[in-house]
Order: sequence, then C-alpha cells, then structure tokens
Amino acid sequence: MSSNVRVRFAPSPTGKLHIGGARTAIYNWAFARANGGTFILRIDDTDPTRSTEENTQVILRAMRWLGLDWDEGPEVGGDFGPYAQTERMDLYREAAERLLAEGKAYPCFCTPEQLAQDRAEAQARKDPFQGYNRRCRNIPADEARARMEAGEPYTLRIKVPEDRGDVVIDDAVHGKVVFDAKELDDFVIFRSDGTPTYNFATVVDDAAMGITHVIRGDDHLSNTPRQVMVYEALGSPVPTFAHISMILGADGKKLSKRHGATSVEEYRDAGYLSDAFVNYLALLGWSLDGETTVIPRDVLAREFSLERISKNPATFDPKKLDWMNAEYINRMDDETFVSQILRPQLEAAGVDVKGAEHDAAWWDLLAEIVRPRTKMPADAAGVAAPVFATAETLAYDEKSVNKGLAKEGMGAVLDAARKALAALDEASWTAEAIDAALEPLPEALDLKKRLVFQAVRVAECGNMVSPPLGETMQLIGREDCLARIDRARTMAL
Ligand code: GLU
Repeated sequence: MSSNVRVRFAPSPTGKLHIGGARTAIYNWAFARANGGTFILRIDDTDPTRSTEENTQVILRAMRWLGLDWDEGPEVGGDFGPYAQTERMDLYREAAERLLAEGKAYPCFCTPEQLAQDRAEAQARKDPFQGYNRRCRNIPADEARARMEAGEPYTLRIKVPEDRGDVVIDDAVHGKVVFDAKELDDFVIFRSDGTPTYNFATVVDDAAMGITHVIRGDDHLSNTPRQVMVYEALGSPVPTFAHISMILGADGKKLSKRHGATSVEEYRDAGYLSDAFVNYLALLGWSLDGETTVIPRDVLAREFSLERISKNPATFDPKKLDWMNAEYINRMDDETFVSQILRPQLEAAGVDVKGAEHDAAWWDLLAEIVRPRTKMPADAAGVAAPVFATAETLAYDEKSVNKGLAKEGMGAVLDAARKALAALDEASWTAEAIDAALEPLPEALDLKKRLVFQAVRVAECGNMVSPPLGETMQLIGREDCLARIDRARTMAL
C-alpha cells in the first residue's frame, strides 16, 4: 500500500531528543507507516546560536535507537532535499522574493526602537491589537525598492489580505479552532539580517516537501494561523494539522528536568528496551482501543490513527514505563532473552559465563528462572550471578547469612540436606529430584518449612532472594552444590 501521505518530524538541534519530541516523532512515523506514506526527517537548524552538529548527531542516533526509520532526510537523501534548513536558505529567499514581487509581502523599515514605541503606545491606550501597525504597508513599491537598494535595513513582512476574515483550522485533534482576523498582524517572514523566521521557513519547506499532515506539539497551535497565511500567500494547499497535547509530570506541570531523565539517550543508557519505550510513549496521548497496553511496534505501525489521539494532556509515569519494560522482557522467548539480555548483562558485569560448558537447554532453563525476576536488563546479571559462581567464589550476603544460616539448628539442616542431596547421582540431578529430596526435611527435623529452605537457599546462592531452588541447583550442578553446603556448614550453628 502506498499513498500520498507525507509527514515530517522537524527537530531543532538545540538540544538532545527529549521525551516530547520522541513522541511526536513516533506519531509521525506510525502515521506514515499506517497509511503507506512517507516519513521525512528534517533538521530545523535555522537558529545558528543554539543549533549544533553534535546535537543533530545525537538526535539521529536517538531516532535510530527508537527504530524510527525515515524515508527521506539526513543520510538517506530523497527527492525533496536538502533536509537541513541551513542548506535551504536560497529557497526561502526565492520564496520571499516571489511574495515581494507579487505584492504579498513588503519591506518594513521600522527600527526596533520605533516598534518598541508603537507597542508601548498600544499598551498605554489598552488597544486590543498589539501587533504591527502596518506603517510600511503602503509605501509605494518604487520608493520601497529605492530604500532597499540604498542599503536601509529592512525586514520583510507578510501582507495579510484586508478581507481575510477569521482563520479557521480544522485540527485533527482539537477540532475547529478559530483565530480572530483582528489578531492577524503582518508578521515578519525575513529578519533584517537576511534570515527567515520559523513560521516562514517551516511553511516554505512543508509546502515544497509536499507535507500533507503536520503532526506536532500543541505549543505550535498558536503559530498555525500565521503559517496558514504563508501557505495562502504561496498559493500552496494547507495541510491537515494535528496538534498533540503536552506531556506532564506527576505533579501536573509540564515535563522537565525536575521530573528526572528527559532525554531519550538517558533511557537507553539506563537499560530500557527501545520497543518498550516506544510502546510507552505512543500511549501518552494515543490509544488503540482504550484498554490494550502492550502494542508492539508492528501493530502501532498498522493501527495508528489521528482519530484516537486524545486532546487531554498525558502524564508521564516512570512506574508505568518500568512496568512496560518488565513486560517486554517477560514476553521474550528464551533465546532472545539469553542473547539480548542475559549474556550481554553478564558480560557487562564481568561474570565469567563458562559458556562452552553449557548447552542451549541449560541456558533456556536459566532464562526461564531469571526472566521473571528481571525488571531492568541489569537485574539479570545479579539474579544469575550465583549460578556462575563456584563454591569457592560465591559471595555470601552477610545479612542473609545472619538471618538464614547463623542460627541454632541450621547446622543440622545443612547436614540433613547434604545427605539427602548426595543420595542423588549426577544423572538424576534435576530440579524435580532436588525438590523431592528436600521436601521431607522440615517434617523430619520438626522445623518450619521456611527455615529449612531459607538455610539451603543461603548455602547455595549466598542470599535469600534467588530464583526457585530446584532449578537453580540443577543449573549449578551436583558437585558444586554439595561443596557449597560444605562451605556454608562452617557458618551455620
Ligand atoms: N523545529 C520546530 C520544533 O522543534 C518544528 C515545529 C514544527 O513541527 O513545525 O519545535
């Protein structure tokens, strides 16, 4: 399926890619994919004081990590390039000159002081209109031309048609939004230093790139009537707008650094899975059916629609993100969990995995017991570590030893456990057989089940929070399990 849907994500490289920007990118990407359209990445780097190449690279990297592949843009090219605004300056100039020649824009020679004075006067009179008073609008064309050529500084202003009337936007999220004609002023499209303003450059680009839907944060809603003026002056069709709500922190304030990590790469570095992160952000203001929470990327790319975007601000809840992350980990099959989480995490933690000794079935069993205990990838190494230790190297957690081993009667527990376990031979060393061997001990020793298993657990794993004992001991192996009991015996009373 292919269609004429063309959408763009147009970050300004004045900082890193943040959660809000990432969500905007996800919506544009998903909308393009769901409609067989084209997703364009454009770098809006016209603010030379704040844009850096380094930020651009960080944004591209974050986009790649998010898995939001773009069909046109930096590094992939396309028929409507270049895809960085600083490389499109000629196009803005040409467009402005055309509007000037057609009388749809005019030069304004008012000095900043003059404009400040006008504003102050308008304020003093409590004039409801505080925009530009159109002083230069009716300077005859040849006079204006002469002053420009004489080198007098000027800006270019759009000439809002006298009879334009209210600007009505049929926003895909907000519905009909009416902007009063009286509020439209002849705003600047080119500054006196020869650079285009955001409202102008964006529309020249969106028009030239054939953008059909502008999906962006609703902090830009107030810019939209001005942008509509530019489309109309250029004679280009106005795209459909979809302004998405802000993302708030738990305190109801706009999400910011105060709420914790805000850049995409901080989440990547903290170990969040890209799929889970994208799923979570997609739900900040959009829903599939109002209840489904786990929406894999391919479903999102098939089912995303503007109709299901909510008008209401969404709240970023780190706990829900954590839940989503754990959910994605939990849904991994054994092989994926081992290759993408377990092995890399063990390696990062410097755990010697003695890999060659273990077959796939061994790793699968380990995956099965570690996965449900892994909320963040880094948890996996800690949970699995006792399995990779040996009786000599196993680290005993002091608190666990005090609570589970260094107690009257625990020596007898370990003696009985050792005897029962030693009766199993190598071939019958399975989780079921181990569990069955330990099962009768509490009754035989007349002790609480919890105490008995706690002692064996601390002896084998060094702590009290390890995965199921039988499976863990099967993975450790008979010989080392018995050796661990012998070592632990010296700590038990
Ligand atoms: N560069 C603008 C921003 O980052 C793009 C706004 C738009 O999508 O029009 O806010």
